[in-house]
Amino acid sequence: MKSFTKGSSQIRKVFTNSTPTEIKIDLVKFREKIHSTDVSINQMKYCFKNLQSKLIGNDYLDYKSRAVHGKTQFNGSLAKYKSTVLKWCKHCFEMGIRTTEDFEHAVFRCPQVQYILFEVKNCLELSCPITASNCVYSSPRPPEASKDELADCTITDLIWNICMKFTLKSRSENSTMCDLTLKSELKRQVETITRNFPNQIITDRIVYLNLIPKLKRNLEQG
Ligand SMILES: [Zn+2]
Repeated sequence: MKSFTKGSSQIRKVFTNSTPTEIKIDLVKFREKIHSTDVSINQMKYCFKNLQSKLIGNDYLDYKSRAVHGKTQFNGSLAKYKSTVLKWCKHCFEMGIRTTEDFEHAVFRCPQVQYILFEVKNCLELSCPITASNCVYSSPRPPEASKDELADCTITDLIWNICMKFTLKSRSENSTMCDLTLKSELKRQVETITRNFPNQIITDRIVYLNLIPKLKRNLEQG
């Protein structure tokens, strides 16, 4: 596990050491990864910028960083050189459906992932539409966005990053994804941000958007 952290922090360091204009983003590659042409250069820039975030723990950033940069192997590619691995998504296979598991399927398209994404969106009343590019990379910043709007986009991106780690971790541990477990994790993380970054716009917006009470209510209702 030591090399895991080491490798990932090096991936993230690439972006610390360069200014956004120096980053050459292979948009074709990142579009192909989610089978969608609906990815802008700005979404990718914010995706990489978020991987440097101090608001959530490095383990969240590492999971996302490794998956986005193709360091996480999914069954679709594993099956090519490991005869014991089937290329299908395990969850879908158990439901009787044969779907090749690639990055996009594992972190977005799989019905169990869609379920938790919609659960979280509805619970927190997020306005950002659930699309692969929004949830996997970053929310598009509106033109001439206000500081509040930018902070809201950052919050949404962090929430999807936490969901992505939850999804990837459940997948590697072969455990069932429970939306309530994810919501308690989200609640803890959002509370930590408000504690660690008081008097900052990000905390103001978390309070304004009632994120903690919404999660709390939802968890109490079960
Ligand atoms: Zn699936």
